[in-house]
Amino acid sequence: MSAPSVENVVIIGTGCAGLTAAIYTGRANLSPLVLEGPLPGGQLTTTSEVENFPGFPHGVDGFQLMQNLREQATRFGTRFEQALVDRVDFTCQPRKLFAGDRVILARSVIIATGASPRMTGIPGEKELYGGKGVTTCATCDGAFYRKMDVAVIGGGDSAAEEALFLTRFASRVYLVHRRDTLRASKIMADRVTSHEKITCVWDSVPVSVEGVAEGAVSGLRVRHLKQGTEQVLAVKGIFVAIGHLPNTGPFAPPLEVDEQGYFKPAAGSAVRTHVPGVYVAGDCADHVYRQAITAAGMGCAAAIEAERWLAGHGG
Ligand SMILES: Cc1cc2nc3c(=O)[nH]c(=O)nc-3n(C[C@H](O)[C@H](O)[C@H](O)COP(=O)(O)OP(=O)(O)OC[C@H]3O[C@@H](n4cnc5c(N)ncnc54)[C@H](O)[C@@H]3O)c2cc1C
Repeated sequence: MSAPSVENVVIIGTGCAGLTAAIYTGRANLSPLVLEGPLPGGQLTTTSEVENFPGFPHGVDGFQLMQNLREQATRFGTRFEQALVDRVDFTCQPRKLFAGDRVILARSVIIATGASPRMTGIPGEKELYGGKGVTTCATCDGAFYRKMDVAVIGGGDSAAEEALFLTRFASRVYLVHRRDTLRASKIMADRVTSHEKITCVWDSVPVSVEGVAEGAVSGLRVRHLKQGTEQVLAVKGIFVAIGHLPNTGPFAPPLEVDEQGYFKPAAGSAVRTHVPGVYVAGDCADHVYRQAITAAGMGCAAAIEAERWLAGHGG
């Protein structure tokens, strides 16, 4: 069997970060190879309306936006292949990426594998996710719930932040939490509990999302853990805020991650790692902003870094 050829740059992931990196490395004549992974097009394909991506004054469908990025990357010579990277060897040059039995050799690598939102798994959640009332991003979707009642599920800092942000639009925000105090920092917890638009639903867990037959959320059924009683909160939007799982497992080690599992870039850079020629971009390395445009920006930065590194190392 002949040895696999060595790629200039392999990009792992086809979300906003990976596809932007592909556009830039493609235009730099590097003929990038992009590995799609389990979710072609990334997280944005799971939502309908995107209103905050610059350049679309009337909004754009998430799936369509990712198709556009893919088309743009293809135009500049990007090749796409389906592969789930499960292991890497960065001790050698070229770098080795493993996907099952397959080995892919790359002079430089851009990892843009995103972070998957944690879901509750209750009935109705999956059916009504993305554009039908269940979401995981208040910054992205809060504005769709003007003058409506919504629920936030969670009790940490991000749930508190989401609830406070949603008070700008919603008439009422129910915060459903399994304990009788928030895990969020005291300052955030105080802001939440004293906010006139927020009602904390303590000691309660979500049971099901109502509205599957109608194709849109009409309520959230919750159970009181101490009393065993159930009630339906009549909400149109449900924001699941119980954290994210960064898709960094196959790469760490050797790459460094923080306590939540997000890539820790090298000092002084958002995208460089401690392995020369290996870069990270997008939500897998960003637990703060997690937006399409910030992921795209990091993809651009990683591509420019890879291009310069290759130029300095005979690429
Ligand atoms: C419901 C919802 C609505 C949203 N709405 C908005 C919005 O309106 N505006 C906004 O700016 N942002 C929005 N976001 C956030 C936005 O989708 C993300 O910030 C963005 O998709 C991050 O892009 P990314 O490229 O970093 O990662 P992702 O989009 O998560 O893409 C990751 C890619 O990596 C691949 N991958 C993962 N692991 C592997 C592996 N081991 N091997 C190979 N490939 C792998 C996946 O298949 C996927 O293609 C929303 C998110 C959600 C969930």
